[in-house]
Amino acid sequence: MKRDELLKRAREAAAHYRVTRGKGFRLSAHDPGDSLGYGSDRKPRARELLKRGVEMLADYQQMLYAQDRWSVLLIFQAMDAAGKDSAIKHVMSGVNPQGCQVYSFKAPTSEELDHTYLWRCMKALPERGRIGIFNRSYYEETLVVRVHPRILDSQKLPPALVTRDIWKQRFEDIANFEKYLARNGVAICKFFLNVSKDEQKQRFLERLERPEKHWKFSESDVHERDHWDKYMRAYQDAIRHTAAPHAPWYVVPADRKWFTRLVVAAAVIDTLDSLDLHYPRVGPERVEELAAAREALLGSGDG
Ligand code: ATP
Ligand code: MG
Repeated sequence: MKRDELLKRAREAAAHYRVTRGKGFRLSAHDPGDSLGYGSDRKPRARELLKRGVEMLADYQQMLYAQDRWSVLLIFQAMDAAGKDSAIKHVMSGVNPQGCQVYSFKAPTSEELDHTYLWRCMKALPERGRIGIFNRSYYEETLVVRVHPRILDSQKLPPALVTRDIWKQRFEDIANFEKYLARNGVAICKFFLNVSKDEQKQRFLERLERPEKHWKFSESDVHERDHWDKYMRAYQDAIRHTAAPHAPWYVVPADRKWFTRLVVAAAVIDTLDSLDLHYPRVGPERVEELAAAREALLGSGDG
């Protein structure tokens, strides 16, 4: 497949799963098992497409780095075992590690709790020219914290500020923060890997049954399943309040890992392509200087 055709396909797939306007967004309208009509028999083809996509991504990344103007922030949010880690691993497998920064957000430390919640995220933002990956993010402040309000009690907020409007206020602040980033050259792409409750159960069972996956199993992940519906409502609300053309959400079907990776790769390619990246061009004077430097080097007679 030619490069243009690949790009066209990536654009189409990205557009299919992109949410840029939250009003009326309903998670139930998104099927975790969807694969755009590709059956499992297309897996080898999907693998080939992903390989080509990863090569394309590497080219864009080099230009992003050379141009040193934009940075790209990829945010991954999902229930456990939805495939965040493997999507990140596969999609970014071809990029130069020097141009890529991954940060995994866990429950905040006591130092982090001494600051406002965006502090730790601000520090982890990618530099210009780099791709930054947030494995979980400030969105947890409207997800796990909303599902378990007792976490709020540990956040050391002045009690008078903890009102029933707190989630709405957090959405507002996050939306403003993302607008600020976008206005300053950060291209944002947010992924919700949409796995079904059934598929998650199968993946947990696999972690229990396969010795090489035992290390991934955690009892607490299973307990979180009791709150599944609350999590889905929280995700839906977060997407409703924070989807925007400059900070779109991609609701990626996550019951088939090979398809998830393809959609994530497509969205990242589409985002990078939209930045009009190119290697810095030099003016005629500089071209002359470079030619002179070449002559001098050739004539230097030192071997
Ligand atoms: P994996 O399980 O694949 O290693 P993970 O992202 O689930 O990846 P864990 O260390 O298992 O990593 O989990 C991180 C935990 O930290 C999650 O349960 C998440 O909800 C929690 N967390 C992240 N941010 C916050 C936050 N702001 N407040 C409270 N808990 C948070
Ligand atoms: Mg986990």
